Amino acid sequence: MFFGGKAQKVLVSFVLILAGASMANTSRANIRCKASDQSRADERNRMVETQIKSRGITDTKVLRAMRCVPRHLFVLDFDRKQAYEDTPLSIGKGQTISQPYIVAFMTQAAELKPTDRVLEIGTGSGYQTAVLAEIVHEVYTIEIVPEFSHRASKLFHRLHYTNIHTKIGDGYKGWPAHAPFDAIFVTAAPGHIPPPLIKQLRVGGRIVIPLGGTRQHLIRITKTKAGLEQESLLPVRFVPMQGIVQHKH
Ligand code: SAH
Repeated sequence: MFFGGKAQKVLVSFVLILAGASMANTSRANIRCKASDQSRADERNRMVETQIKSRGITDTKVLRAMRCVPRHLFVLDFDRKQAYEDTPLSIGKGQTISQPYIVAFMTQAAELKPTDRVLEIGTGSGYQTAVLAEIVHEVYTIEIVPEFSHRASKLFHRLHYTNIHTKIGDGYKGWPAHAPFDAIFVTAAPGHIPPPLIKQLRVGGRIVIPLGGTRQHLIRITKTKAGLEQESLLPVRFVPMQGIVQHKH
């Protein structure tokens, strides 16, 4: 009896542990984040509800990605508290991490699929890169400022992203070795669309890019067999693209 009782108790607690574990698994499985650090998830959920869903972003893959990426690790130390506020923040050297809504908007505009291979120009903090990596198969990202690229690479490694490939260089030229891409994101504003990026986009692929000088518009270009379709989506303000684009007109 004594042993039976004990065995029963052990069994009951074993079943409870199993139930607990499977509940934890289910909630993890529902979230399915690639980022290994999920601290401050409540703030991210609130950010998605009040800043992103409320402004009409509906793509569930985008909403999930925005709930997954720990934005507070991509901002500077003294901005950690404000990381989930409705605003862009400085990342140093006159560059900024975009407002969460703009990141979500650009990501939704590219109509991504899980099998996509994506190119990003302007790694910056790496936040947009991580959002893309949560959704697609592979992300290739180019940054012209070595320090930004190094900082972001370290963070990708720390968060266990294995599908992000970084490169230091001028993104104007794209990354021909990995072309063609299903989608291309440009997060610094050039005065014109860099022709190499069009070339490196597959037919049916999309480029999302802020175009213009002081007054910019977010543009979506779709490459079709017949040529390029261009749609103007939203007035925006991004930092200007650096490098050879400055000398070409
Ligand atoms: N997506 C970034 C936004 C960073 S701001 C984020 O979420 O944080 C734009 C970035 O583009 C800056 O880091 C800037 O250094 C970089 N950049 C500007 N011109 C570039 C170029 N020609 N090639 C690659 N990166 C460029």
